[in-house]
Amino acid sequence: CGIVGYVGHKSAVPILLKGLKKLEYRGYDSAGIAVLNSGSIDVVKKVGKLEVLEEHVGHKNGGACIGIGHTRWATHGRPSDTNAHPHTDCTGRFAVVHNGIIENFQELRGWLKEEGHSFKSETDTEVLVHLFEHFYRGDLVTALRQVMEKVEGSYAMVILSLENPGQLIAARQDNPLIVGLGEGENFIASDIPAILEHTRQTYILNDGEVVLVTSDQVQVFDRQGNPVHKEVFHVQWDM
Ligand code: GLU
Repeated sequence: CGIVGYVGHKSAVPILLKGLKKLEYRGYDSAGIAVLNSGSIDVVKKVGKLEVLEEHVGHKNGGACIGIGHTRWATHGRPSDTNAHPHTDCTGRFAVVHNGIIENFQELRGWLKEEGHSFKSETDTEVLVHLFEHFYRGDLVTALRQVMEKVEGSYAMVILSLENPGQLIAARQDNPLIVGLGEGENFIASDIPAILEHTRQTYILNDGEVVLVTSDQVQVFDRQGNPVHKEVFHVQWDM
């Protein structure tokens, strides 16, 4: 299971696919990507190896410069195209990738259904994107903090938003997540190998931290929304 996110000036698709390839060692049963094109979030996700995903992506989406990718190791819901990540909300405005387990997803799912949300997958993860849509009032950091207050369990997650075309929002709790700092581009990943060919400058996120990433800025916040000053971790080793 692995996560990759990219925002910058290059074509996102090859960067996401290559990053996921570097995270294959973590194991997975399916994989997917979501990129932002003008006016829509486009998702491709497939059960099986990354090669299967690559075939389905083809040469589409070459113009997108922001996106998220995921390799899934199913914990809740069998391996299938539908259960693969990214998951989108009912309005198609948000897409999420997640590693970990949302322990109270049944309860949240019941509540969200009463609120009018309809679910497409059998995963624990899907509650995250519906919750995000429920709380979103124009501010990504606030919405994600509210999601974190509701969920119990472990996560590294990244959300892509149609209304915030140059921004990725991410958080972690008991699952690894790092930020790679580039020049006019930035990266998010589960682990360093995914970004090492692009940069050696990283932030290692701690539990409960939220990060807002654009092509030229990375802002980290604590659970309460206070800004956190991170030291750059410079990667010395080679792959
Ligand atoms: N629990 C989630 C699922 O089953 C995420 C699994 C993972 O970490 O890849 O979809």
